[in-house]
Amino acid sequence: MKLYTPPADLLAAAAASPVVTEYLAWRRAGNVPTLLSIGADAKTSKGEGAGYLTAIIYLSPADAAARATGLPLKNLCPAASEGCRAACLAETSGRMVFAANVRARLYRTLLYMFEPEAFRAALRSELKAFIRKAERAGLKPVCRPNGGQDILWERVFPELFAEFPGVRFYDYTKILPSRYRRDLPENYHLTFSRAESNHLACLEFLAAGGNVAIVLDTAGAPLPETLEGFPVVAGDEDDVRLPERDGRGVWVALRPKGGVAARDTTGFVYRMSQGRRTTAVRILPTA
Ligand code: SF4
Repeated sequence: MKLYTPPADLLAAAAASPVVTEYLAWRRAGNVPTLLSIGADAKTSKGEGAGYLTAIIYLSPADAAARATGLPLKNLCPAASEGCRAACLAETSGRMVFAANVRARLYRTLLYMFEPEAFRAALRSELKAFIRKAERAGLKPVCRPNGGQDILWERVFPELFAEFPGVRFYDYTKILPSRYRRDLPENYHLTFSRAESNHLACLEFLAAGGNVAIVLDTAGAPLPETLEGFPVVAGDEDDVRLPERDGRGVWVALRPKGGVAARDTTGFVYRMSQGRRTTAVRILPTA
């Protein structure tokens, strides 16, 4: 068996953080975190009824890895707003809060940050198995590489898309695609994600034919057909955010979940009853 040699920066981080020390011991025992969650929740399972098998990579959102380790690690959601951080489903919903899942996200994040080649090798291997699984099931493989983070994969791992041309990749992002993520591979589709801080950028993106996810509180009423002049489609039916399903130039409406609407005071949740509240126009920084 090939001996595991930790990189020097991981050893240095382990010296400063008990959490990283535990991770390092786990890696030395020959473990590698599983990166893909496949059909693992109700929403992605619904995609199977529409003919898609969905794989998602969940890392630690925003500065969660820095907080967990006490180290100055990179914020994986550079354009997160106050409202989305407080409501982040990748950290607060359902099974996401279980300690084992928090640890799994952190270990994947540490692999991504400290051992990028090992991360890429693991992802390649898992994607190959995922494609075989989809083929056996007669489903189309789709992959969301940003389950709870906002990484510019087309920059950090551009070969991924060419190596897996049969996989449709898609993501939600708060980094305005029409300004900062223009040169996307053909098999990577982005839905811009509205927050209280980027509402005008959403309208700009919609007008250019992009799609925008919005957390929309209708207070129990049906979804509106249009919002601020753009069509609204339901986004909770499944998680397959592809233009041939959603259309183009549309709001993708997500209902607030887990008490988010009641707690939100920032304007992150768009309330039909009160109209929108936009705290600031912040065109997003690059990662
Ligand atoms: S950008 Fe998305 S994943 Fe990151 S904190 Fe906000 S809601 Fe969560």
